Amino acid sequence: MTRAAAALLAAAGLCSGVVGCSRAPGPLAPRWTLTKPAEELVPDPELRARIVRALDAARSAGTDPSISKFHVRAATVIQHAGVERTILGGNSEYARVPEAIHGETSLMNHVINAVGPDAARRAVSFIAFYGEQCGGGGSCGDCRDYLITTTRWEELLIVCGQASDHTVHVERFARSVVSEDRFPLVASEATGLPAARLEHLAQAAIEARTGGVSLFTSAEEHLGVAALTTTGKVYRAAGADDAAFHYRYPLGAALQQAATYRDYFVQAILVAGPPGRIPRLCYRDRQYGYESSSFNRKRGLPPIRLILLEQPAGAGPRRYRATTFEEALPGAFGAADFMPDAVDRFLEQRAQR
Ligand SMILES: [Zn+2]
Repeated sequence: MTRAAAALLAAAGLCSGVVGCSRAPGPLAPRWTLTKPAEELVPDPELRARIVRALDAARSAGTDPSISKFHVRAATVIQHAGVERTILGGNSEYARVPEAIHGETSLMNHVINAVGPDAARRAVSFIAFYGEQCGGGGSCGDCRDYLITTTRWEELLIVCGQASDHTVHVERFARSVVSEDRFPLVASEATGLPAARLEHLAQAAIEARTGGVSLFTSAEEHLGVAALTTTGKVYRAAGADDAAFHYRYPLGAALQQAATYRDYFVQAILVAGPPGRIPRLCYRDRQYGYESSSFNRKRGLPPIRLILLEQPAGAGPRRYRATTFEEALPGAFGAADFMPDAVDRFLEQRAQR
């Protein structure tokens, strides 16, 4: 479809829905201005023009945030088979508990629907969000997992158009990715735990990994996790999959058990994977850890130590990588950022004494 044809369809009202057409900006379309850092990241005038068209389109992306009332409106503009396509995405919340399809996940899913996964990976160079205010943090952990899988994330740009002053902010998505290989290797005494504690935690995680459910999960990705709280208790869990592909993440599961006992403050989390391999920790699980670590911050406690256990494939010593969730999920957001007073009250009322 040419842009002229798209404009005709739009005028005829045929371009509503998920896969939009390039819509000619109406008289109320804002004039977007890139910030200086954004100009440096996007020197190409043609790409700038596509970003502006995406922001104009994102203004009308449909959303349904029935619980949070927080609209995430996303769009991208791609070239595919010689045609420019504008594709929209938006968040929608769907359960009586806080569950949501997120804006960027929705958007990439729609791009894949439109042009297929390979073309989507090649064609999407940016995701643009239209919001009242920019700077509210990067994508959540789950969206990071999805974007790493579905895009050329090393080059992906994240754009935010700020409606209040029509400035355009751009960041590299790669800034929000930290491979486990980059978690520092540390001596066991530098994990922050006494030797006996560390050994106990490692055994607990290794044993947890013998359980769980891994009918659809490869052995490489199946993990066991042990969490040590400030009360000295250890909670553990393994990953569990199911036919609906509603994966139960091991780190989140261990933290949920601790929370069930009102044991909210965690000192350290140790993750065990298969021998001979660095355990790979999904960004969704990092998000659970980050949220929990933000409880520590509210109480003036040190951040949770995140420890990956590298077991040798044969004979040899164990190795440890240690970091924090703040380092492992840069630019993260949590409840303590959005509603600090509510988190204070919650912990005051609920936490074990
Ligand atoms: Zn998300």
